Amino acid sequence: MFKKGDKLYSIVGMKCPRCHEGKLWRTPFHNLKLYDMYENCPVCGLKYEQEPGFWYGAMYMAYTFSSGALLIGMLVCMFVLKWNLTQIFTAVGITALIGFTYNARLSRSAWLNMMVSYNPNWKKQNEEREKKRAELKAQGVDVDEVSSLTSQGRHGFESDNKIFKV
Ligand SMILES: [Zn+2]
Repeated sequence: MFKKGDKLYSIVGMKCPRCHEGKLWRTPFHNLKLYDMYENCPVCGLKYEQEPGFWYGAMYMAYTFSSGALLIGMLVCMFVLKWNLTQIFTAVGITALIGFTYNARLSRSAWLNMMVSYNPNWKKQNEEREKKRAELKAQGVDVDEVSSLTSQGRHGFESDNKIFKV
């Protein structure tokens, strides 16, 4: 339905927002391990948890998605299917229970995609960053091994100042 490069492709397909190739989750959502997430993209190395507390924002997405979906479902049951209230609340309850894990994961996927853009040049940029890091290391600079490779800014480009340890 969606092609690689589209935001919706990586949101719905639960792919890394930078390379659109690496998976977000170690296990399928129906095994109920709610947040069984890779720390970094297995393909491009993007750090998924961009900063401490990053996933708090995803809770708002989860709330929006679930209340929106349930509201639409309720309206359809009420006005199209003409169900009574007991039927509607039973259906809503069951849907909420079943959809819970999927919704929790979808919200993280959407939140991460809001913060990180698709970047088809990730490979080249990673190589350049590695080169620069090697140069700095050769000069005796204390280089942060982790964040320089994995974290990146809002627009898919990492700022170089993240290379230095503070
Ligand atoms: Zn990736």
